[in-house]
Amino acid sequence: MESIYPDQDDSLSQAQAIKILNDWGSKSFFRARKLGNSIHIEAIESTPCFTFRAKTQYEHRSVKTLIKPYYGEKLDNQGTPPDMWDITVDKPSYHFGNYVSDVIIPHTDKVSTCQTCGGNCKVSCWSCRGSGENCCSSCSGGRQLCVSCTGSGLTSRTVYETVYGYDNEPPRQEMKVENISCYSCNGLGTTSCFTCNGSGRLQCSSCGGYGEVNCETCQAEGRVKEYEMLHVLFEYQDHSQIIGAIEIPNNKLSNVTGEKVLNKRDYRITTVHELSDKKLAKHALEFLSQFDTSNALILYQNFEIDEIPVFKVSYKKHSNSKTKFLWIYGDEHEVYFDGEWSITPNTKKVGFVAIAVAAFSVIGIGGAYFFNKQPDPSYSSLATEESLVLANAFCDNLQLQERRLALGINYSDSVDSRFRQQYSDAPSSLDKTNEAHAPYLRGWCHIADAWLTEQEKQVSSKAPKKKLEPSDESPTGVCSMIVQEKLNKKTGEIERTTPCGQ
Ligand SMILES: [Zn+2]
Ligand SMILES: [Zn+2]
Ligand SMILES: [Zn+2]
Ligand SMILES: [Zn+2]
Repeated sequence: MESIYPDQDDSLSQAQAIKILNDWGSKSFFRARKLGNSIHIEAIESTPCFTFRAKTQYEHRSVKTLIKPYYGEKLDNQGTPPDMWDITVDKPSYHFGNYVSDVIIPHTDKVSTCQTCGGNCKVSCWSCRGSGENCCSSCSGGRQLCVSCTGSGLTSRTVYETVYGYDNEPPRQEMKVENISCYSCNGLGTTSCFTCNGSGRLQCSSCGGYGEVNCETCQAEGRVKEYEMLHVLFEYQDHSQIIGAIEIPNNKLSNVTGEKVLNKRDYRITTVHELSDKKLAKHALEFLSQFDTSNALILYQNFEIDEIPVFKVSYKKHSNSKTKFLWIYGDEHEVYFDGEWSITPNTKKVGFVAIAVAAFSVIGIGGAYFFNKQPDPSYSSLATEESLVLANAFCDNLQLQERRLALGINYSDSVDSRFRQQYSDAPSSLDKTNEAHAPYLRGWCHIADAWLTEQEKQVSSKAPKKKLEPSDESPTGVCSMIVQEKLNKKTGEIERTTPCGQ
């Protein structure tokens, strides 16, 4: 792709690129090691981009009509009210901030009858809706439940009865309990309410029983003064835009530094004569013109342009493989791979799953690689590196730990065929940015982990005692050996007893 603003001075040699990629790879455990050495760089093209950052302080004005009670004071209604933009308001002095200021517009006073009360000074009481009374909250219709009989209307009393026996037996007293009508409520179960004297209603406390209250709008004056208020809102806005480097997400580019090519402060920036590049100047003016609004005044602006170095590196993994691209950008020499390994030069910036990138610290993982990869007869260290990145990224959340390091070797065919058996409904290729594929990816990782565990057990029980030669054809032997080597190299601490490592 052709650079928008080719700059002959910016260059990056192949040796520098290799060093940057190697350094980048060594910064995180989950990145491909010696990335620079393992690819064949075909071309390096300088495609710098420009970050535009503008801060604009605005002043918005609007007029509101307000009313307040009129007590008969002198009115300011002589003369023509000024235009709202002619009124002097203290402006912020060249700092960016958000605040408001209200100013009464002179000569706008007007007296009128209060619309709320129609000039009556009184309005209907909101509490009793004008009746002057409210329902008694202590009772229901003036009657309360009788406290003595709890509403039954009955009370019990104890009586003694003389019982006469047969023949010569003497008479005796027998105790009996009988229900009688409640004394307190005369058997009704309810009594008259004490609070409202049985009426069921109480005088409204809000209006004292009058059913009306003083009008609040006019404070019972019957008239109000109308006047106009100028409402001034000072606010600033940040705007930014990136010109060029469409393949790299904006959030990545805005986190790196470059060379400042413009830093301008003015009341209102309408020219960018400082920029010698006419195309860039045109972009800059277009960018600035977006912030003009018809309903606000621009008080002052700040405009900065940074030129970010971006180098598009085209490379191949093998001499007969497809050309791929990566980008080295910013003074910090950040590295970016596109979400797809096989990006075409004209690919527009597409939706990129930033979460996946943040979680794995590695980009450029194509899920389809797992299942569509052609068997590579000549084992190369590059393929391993790439597989490691893939496996690490995929299995990171499953805490497969060190064993993942070995996933790059000889795993794919048996793991993939097991996966196909178990997940026959899986899509033909897996996309790790696709939510719907997540269960399948997890499944694949579990199968890969189980397979690896098996391989390790087989190696420790069956492998010959003698040290394996590097030319050993046995896949398990090779695997085990490389596991050992990788573990020692990467961690230096992990202990694992495999015969070939002894
Ligand atoms: Zn009123
Ligand atoms: Zn009331
Ligand atoms: Zn009672
Ligand atoms: Zn009551």
